[in-house]
Amino acid sequence: MQSRIQIVQGDITTISVDAIVNAANPSLLGGGGVDGAIHRAAGPALLAACKKVRQQQGECAPGHAVITEAGDLPAKAVVHTVGPVWRGGEAQEERLLQDAYRNSLQLVTDNGYRSVAFPAISTGIYGYPRAAAALIAFNTVSDYLTTHSLPEQVYFVCYDDENTRLYQRLLAQHAL
Ligand code: ADP
Repeated sequence: MQSRIQIVQGDITTISVDAIVNAANPSLLGGGGVDGAIHRAAGPALLAACKKVRQQQGECAPGHAVITEAGDLPAKAVVHTVGPVWRGGEAQEERLLQDAYRNSLQLVTDNGYRSVAFPAISTGIYGYPRAAAALIAFNTVSDYLTTHSLPEQVYFVCYDDENTRLYQRLLAQHAL
């Protein structure tokens, strides 16, 4: 049977899945890294949708997630989640990163979506050590999938070789 988790190397804005996840910042109004790429590719409708959420709910705290339309992206929806800033490991970073993945998946399930693509949340500007972040991402997603039938398929979209290698190793160990 094909695994419900797949690793893809590339740009998350080009992937045709039901929902892509954005590593957003608390303002929800765009930023650098994957957030900037998603807003550039999605166009003004995404920013307008984010502004609306922001007006209704205020900032998005680390570990939380919200969902919007996807503007011009091939995806149907964007889940915006805020990962933790790495502060050395004693500031609840691990729990907040787990929460970011779990709350994103919950929104995907609640909206009846069958596929979702995640970037490596917090491993860019937010500075989370990559191997530790990959392990948390992988374990949190696989635990969630054991108790939920949706999403059917989860893609980890790795932008660089290092993350691709880390995730591929985890998937190979998982499949044993
Ligand atoms: P954070 O602020 O959560 O650290 P970043 O956007 O800085 O978010 O980085 C998160 C991860 O997303 C990094 O591993 C970075 O290499 C990756 N990334 C950057 N651009 C893209 C993209 N277009 N598609 C997929 N991943 C990307």
